[in-house]
Amino acid sequence: MSGRLTLRNVEVEGVGGLDVRLDGGRIAAIGRSLAGGGPELDGAGGGLIPGLIDHHVHLLALAAQADSIALDTAQAAADLAQRIGAAAAGRAPGAWLRATGYHERVAGVLGAAELDRLAPGHALRVQHRSGALWMLNSLALERVLGAEPPPPCVEIDEAGRPTGRIWRGDDWLRTRIGSAPPPLAPIGRVFAACGVTGLTDASATTDAAAADLLAAARRAGALPQRLMLMSAGELCAQPGVMVGPVKVLLDEHDLPDLDDLTARIGLARRWGRRVAIHCVTAVELAVSLAAFEAAGAAPGDRIEHGGLIPEAAIGSLKALGLTVVTQPGFILERGDRYLAEVAAADQDSLYRIDSLLGAGVSVAGSSDAPYSSPDPWLAIAAATARRTRLGQTVGAGEGVAPARALGLWLGGFEDPGGPPRRVAVGAAADLCLLTTPLAQALVEPDAERVAATLVGGEVVYERGSERPAA
Ligand SMILES: [Zn+2]
Repeated sequence: MSGRLTLRNVEVEGVGGLDVRLDGGRIAAIGRSLAGGGPELDGAGGGLIPGLIDHHVHLLALAAQADSIALDTAQAAADLAQRIGAAAAGRAPGAWLRATGYHERVAGVLGAAELDRLAPGHALRVQHRSGALWMLNSLALERVLGAEPPPPCVEIDEAGRPTGRIWRGDDWLRTRIGSAPPPLAPIGRVFAACGVTGLTDASATTDAAAADLLAAARRAGALPQRLMLMSAGELCAQPGVMVGPVKVLLDEHDLPDLDDLTARIGLARRWGRRVAIHCVTAVELAVSLAAFEAAGAAPGDRIEHGGLIPEAAIGSLKALGLTVVTQPGFILERGDRYLAEVAAADQDSLYRIDSLLGAGVSVAGSSDAPYSSPDPWLAIAAATARRTRLGQTVGAGEGVAPARALGLWLGGFEDPGGPPRRVAVGAAADLCLLTTPLAQALVEPDAERVAATLVGGEVVYERGSERPAA
């Protein structure tokens, strides 16, 4: 069990100069000049707030993205060399390097010889953007080719030597390389540095194997955050993770009929679980509302994204007691595209916040990482300013005050859009210490304002003492 830790000179709910004592993973005392004994952490007057919970992420996809080299935006051979060189520098000699999104316009179709120059000491494989071709360097080739003759997907030159190019050979490559899961520690560190102490993985694809992997990473500390997992199918509870709602993915071009969707909600109930339905479009939302209407909604049922919520649907969301789990980061990252592609009449319905809160609908915040940045502070700023990368505004009327925006990340796992958790005696010591008082940090929300992050009373991040990436 975690020992004692006393945080000195922190600000809690607007009151400065307080000490907070943690014991056994909980907040044991809050007061002035608390008696010492045991380790201490100087808060330097910074705000102490509950750790943030990102209520909708995809951890394995994010880890895979963080573990591979993105070449989608590479423009020239120099970009290619720089990105692969930087990744190689961060990894042990002989380790695998995986790059994706390559296009031959950058530096031609690559073979083993060219790739050897880019990463001579690592096993490098580069995927063509089409997905049809992998290009391997010599070390990578050596590892995948056995004594037996290579299969037809392996391209051979006139002299009978493999060129490094493997066409439509994903299945074969997988049998040769295996599919080792991507490391989770790097993304655990990213979230910890942002003050995030809890994560809800919203992947419908999560099965027993994925759940085992994530639970093991949580127990080993690679993922220091508390974890809740959704899944499309049944999922067993195990130490290290909580089982969350059943995730229902909808595709507007292939919508299930109402009876099917209603039956899926009924099945989730038999498993004792809530339901979270992916709704990006107005049609997806309409079908989901009808299904909840038919099957009956329960507290904790969720609409994921709420990308486009027509005004007329707000009353139904409220009546059904559904929580909308939104991603304000999309306004920043995709807003310019929305303004170009979404009908003008619908633009005020994009990623609503204020009108939902005003109507009494619960709203929770999340990143949907890797589909937007995992940094909640960028999204908090976007929830207030509603500004796009190019400085345009999307649904200005939907902006909320910064403290309210932060609150979208402070609801608990079971009630993500509910009242913000509080720094109070008896509460779990899942905490985010800021470098300044809270009000000052909210003037310009930024992960740089996070001084330390604690989960269950253990410090999992402290500014200035970051360990170098493994
Ligand atoms: Zn998602």
